Amino acid sequence: MAHIGTLFIISSPSGAGKSSLIKALLERPSADGRLQVSVSHTTRPMRPGEVDGVHYHFVDKAQFEQLIARGAFYEWAEVFGNYYGTSREWIDAQLAQGIDILLDIDWQGARQIREQSPSAKSIFILPPSREELERRLNARQQDSAEVIRGRMAKAVSEMSHYDEYDYLLVNDSFEHALNQLSAIIEAERANTGKQAARYQDLLSRLLAE
Ligand code: GDP
Ligand code: ADP
Ligand code: 5GP
Repeated sequence: MAHIGTLFIISSPSGAGKSSLIKALLERPSADGRLQVSVSHTTRPMRPGEVDGVHYHFVDKAQFEQLIARGAFYEWAEVFGNYYGTSREWIDAQLAQGIDILLDIDWQGARQIREQSPSAKSIFILPPSREELERRLNARQQDSAEVIRGRMAKAVSEMSHYDEYDYLLVNDSFEHALNQLSAIIEAERANTGKQAARYQDLLSRLLAE
């Protein structure tokens, strides 16, 4: 199936602001259904305020393993002791319709996606400092002190993969990072090959003898 939409991979150490940036991006009027975020499957417990099917599809380990066996995932990885995976079918259907898809996945998943979809564009988000990363993890008030310690300990090794990505953003001013993210997505939408597929009819009318 031809893919008119683009697959955008977004990674960062936990707490750098990916989820907030993605949410703000989807709320912009310009997103207007042309941009969707993929809802991953996970085996981690639901956090307060999370909704099954919205933030994640929450499944147990046995269900997750069945989905792996069935080939349902584009990629999957174990992150912080839980399984996370991206479902293939839904994404392919969206891309074929010209809808851009955002994947909030870690660097291991990003590698697997790049191998399968070389045209995917990847964006890495850095925090402005280690201190600010820790402050944001605490400010979110969603994880225990022990979980936050684990995420801080993993942050450096995650950030070391920044150079595998096409774009690198620093989420200091939220508005600035949001504008940059939006600009990357808009520029990719205007790619000639993708626009030609999207505007086949217009082009044939404009170019008719
Ligand atoms: P957050 O980092 O605090 O937003 O925590 P989450 O629990 O939402 O995400 C945990 C980690 O799993 C992050 O590094 C995500 O990028 C990663 N992740 C989420 N969904 C997927 C997925 O479908 N595939 C892969 N490979 N990683 C994912
Ligand atoms: P991630 O999805 O990368 O784990 P979140 O989007 O949950 O990160 O952000 C972590 C916390 O930092 C949240 O409380 C969020 O409101 C806050 N935050 C995100 N971006 C900024 C920013 N530019 N300045 C200050 N706080 C921010
Ligand atoms: P959290 O438990 O805080 O929701 O997510 C922890 C990490 O798992 C985040 O860094 C997030 O990007 C990653 N993650 C979430 N979903 C997936 C997924 O489907 N695949 C992979 N590989 N990582 C994921």
